[in-house]
Amino acid sequence: MTKNDPAAKSERAPGAGFVSLVGAGPGDPELITVGGAARLAGAGVVVYDRLANPRLLALAPADAEMVYVGKMPDRHTLSQDEINALLVAKGREGKRVVRLKGGDPFVFGRGGEEAEALAAAGVPFEVWPGVTSAIAAPAYAGIPVTHRALASSFAVITGHENPAKEDSSIDWAKLATGVDTLIFLMGTGRLAQIAQRLIEHGRHPSTPAAVIEWGTLPRQRVATGTLADIDAAVRTAGLAPPAVTVVGEVVRLREGLRWFDTRPLFGKRVLVTRTRQQASELSRALAAQGAEAVELPTIEIVSQADPSLLSAAIIGLRTAAYAWCVFTSANAVELFVGHLRDARLDARAFGRTQIAAIGPGTAQVLARFGLGADLMPDRFVAEGLIAAFAGRPMRGQRVLLPRAADARDTLVDALSGMGALVDELMLYVSAVPSQPDAEGLRRLRAGEIDIATFASSSSVRNLIEMLDGDIGPLGKVRIAAIGPITAQAVRDVGLEPAVVAETYTIDRLVAALAADAKREPAAEDGR
Ligand code: SAH
Repeated sequence: MTKNDPAAKSERAPGAGFVSLVGAGPGDPELITVGGAARLAGAGVVVYDRLANPRLLALAPADAEMVYVGKMPDRHTLSQDEINALLVAKGREGKRVVRLKGGDPFVFGRGGEEAEALAAAGVPFEVWPGVTSAIAAPAYAGIPVTHRALASSFAVITGHENPAKEDSSIDWAKLATGVDTLIFLMGTGRLAQIAQRLIEHGRHPSTPAAVIEWGTLPRQRVATGTLADIDAAVRTAGLAPPAVTVVGEVVRLREGLRWFDTRPLFGKRVLVTRTRQQASELSRALAAQGAEAVELPTIEIVSQADPSLLSAAIIGLRTAAYAWCVFTSANAVELFVGHLRDARLDARAFGRTQIAAIGPGTAQVLARFGLGADLMPDRFVAEGLIAAFAGRPMRGQRVLLPRAADARDTLVDALSGMGALVDELMLYVSAVPSQPDAEGLRRLRAGEIDIATFASSSSVRNLIEMLDGDIGPLGKVRIAAIGPITAQAVRDVGLEPAVVAETYTIDRLVAALAADAKREPAAEDGR
């Protein structure tokens, strides 16, 4: 146990439970802190509401109890007293509770009241800060809340209070001219009155202002103007909560400092159809270009190997019978190494057997197991591998080919044609997922997807099968294929790929999408 382990205190008081009030950050799931993520990973109960990114919930153990306490259309909202009581009760049950709160728990999140309730009840707790939207949303809009030349102070103010109220707890007169940058949370609905109050108390009507809706997320939208017209700008753009309002000279810096909402794929909702295990690499590359990756796995790898063929292959490998072992997919590497491990073997089993990889993705997985590829073609398809082997003395050489049961025969035929003796070892079939991701399918059917990416022919065919043969939901979606073979599979189902990567890599696919987006006219909606 490390000294940071949140259980440390609770273990000193066995059975007492422990509550962590954890800041989830403003939206971008990467903005949770390292400590916040660790607390989620150790949670027995997670209590969360609307502004905590649902993707963070995946960090909690699968068997953790998830309690949503936010607004629901069909159910009454838990009052703050009820939430406090829930935290106390779960703590008293001896649970490790994570109270996940948007932004920072002590910035307008009523975290203070929750901590007070826990303190009064004697339930041990901690407060784990988070990145507040008050600073991060402006940052993602290219607005620094302080600046050496423009702002030496900032204030974070609730916009929830009615500014017309006589007994306002906000000292408008002092705020209006006493602080350089004013940041209002929860103020979208009262923007006109807020602006008016500031002007009344001496802030110049031409002071720059910006409103940032859903800051730090791919759906972020920004409206800019001055105190005099910001309310109108927000209405024109149709911005709604959650939004942060920034007032002050620093807002001028946005045009020069925009970095997030100018990314090539900013705001695009991109379908990722790879297996659950392989999706994250593509999703991360897309997010780095500003896109929202929507994962809808269309392939499930089902391991199935004939035990006697498998042990014959392993014996062949160990007795150095094979000159070559050829991997045509990352999945084949993972499964084959897994089988070696089950047989209590490791990378040494390959001995002097040379290893070929079809492309960088496969080579990368090999490298993870300490295996280098002796051969990788220029073109990352079977034909590329065939060309790479063509100049080599293959006659009489034994080749082990661990692969998918439904792979093309091209490679085996060509190697046999060169006189090689090929042992195919079928390791898996790729199937349509037994439990398709309902949310991904729903968003595709609801027209909430801009681009669909395909990294293999089977991902195309499987998606159409998951749509019950109906290509309709893909009608208005831009389709990107990782290479010509996948592009052909797209055409075969009656669709037209808009983007085809020249080389078969995830990086090239994302680069091709980014280039395509630059050619398209950019969306004009106040961004
Ligand atoms: N504790 C939170 C604030 C909770 S009050 C924090 O530190 O960020 C809720 C208000 O926060 C919203 O009404 C909105 O003004 C602001 N907010 C939260 N997330 C936001 C986001 N992603 N973009 C813009 N505003 C956000």
